[in-house]
Amino acid sequence: MRLPLWTGAGSPKRWAVRLSAGLAAAAIASAALPSGANAAESKPVPKTVSYAERKAVFEEIGSITGIPWNYLAAIDQYERALSLAMPKKRPLRQGLTAIQVPAPLWAGPGNPNQADTSLATISLFGGIGRDGNGDGVADPSQDLDVLSSMASYLTSYGLDPADFRVAVWQYYGSLRSVERIEQFAGIYKHFGTLDLHRHAFPLPLGSNYSYRSTWGASRSWGGFRIHEGTDLFAPHGVPVRSTCYGVVEVIGWNPYGGWRIGIRDPNGVYHYYAHLAGYVKPITRGDYVQPGQVIGYVGSSGYGKPGTSGKFPPHLHYGTYRDNGFREWSFDPYPHLSKWEREERAARRAK
Ligand SMILES: [Zn+2]
Repeated sequence: MRLPLWTGAGSPKRWAVRLSAGLAAAAIASAALPSGANAAESKPVPKTVSYAERKAVFEEIGSITGIPWNYLAAIDQYERALSLAMPKKRPLRQGLTAIQVPAPLWAGPGNPNQADTSLATISLFGGIGRDGNGDGVADPSQDLDVLSSMASYLTSYGLDPADFRVAVWQYYGSLRSVERIEQFAGIYKHFGTLDLHRHAFPLPLGSNYSYRSTWGASRSWGGFRIHEGTDLFAPHGVPVRSTCYGVVEVIGWNPYGGWRIGIRDPNGVYHYYAHLAGYVKPITRGDYVQPGQVIGYVGSSGYGKPGTSGKFPPHLHYGTYRDNGFREWSFDPYPHLSKWEREERAARRAK
């Protein structure tokens, strides 16, 4: 575990919070190997807490602390996504929030009692633990204590987006974490809800397509690479739709994927659509998309310099990648594709 530096300079409380940075990162990194690489699709909220209830709590804490609700939602969701990526090593915290503050950060790095709940000694040792539910102790098993502590930590950096970025960087110690959390905050602000876990099949169900499980097969172009995705064969020009709510992270030419687009969803999953004939216009990096929204068209672009096309039959290559804040790995999208197809069929019949 990386230990924080202690200079003893400056205001003890503020410095303590800042200098304990990286502790969360160390705690996460020690559990960073993926276990359930092909983890099942998320059921992100326990049945007892609705998305609306959770959002209302974020808003309430936001109104007291000045931290926008979508920032708290983004950090909460980031920690949820970490547990989805590493379900065995980092089980989901049950309750209203998924945030798990590491003990040295909660109690203070030099605190001999790492299970401390006393406000006085936590403050003395520069821990971020706070009392949010008014019972006089800072208890990490209490949802409101955790959320208030996170809000208080964030406010110690200031309320601007740039301050938020620094606070998140200091807390998680990883640029990927900062990127994910900023993306989630943007997604929540744009859609105004936490209820963003619906999916759609990437091709219109009425179109002429076929696909089968091809994950892990070898490929012919660009040296040895295993096939990280599913190929959906369809005629040139069939619309390609986003499977999820998310934000456009990457768009443009890639020698392998041709005209491709990458979308990050609120579970931290990266959805990769390749070999497109072109994009729906206008679409650009940072745009927010929802399930079923057309983003481009089936084509056969790729395997060469920009504009190369027709080296293979037209199809959509669809890949999914999970992210644990430190690295990314692909998982087989096929089971999800067949599930989303079934669900969409059933929903159509029900209408
Ligand atoms: Zn493919």
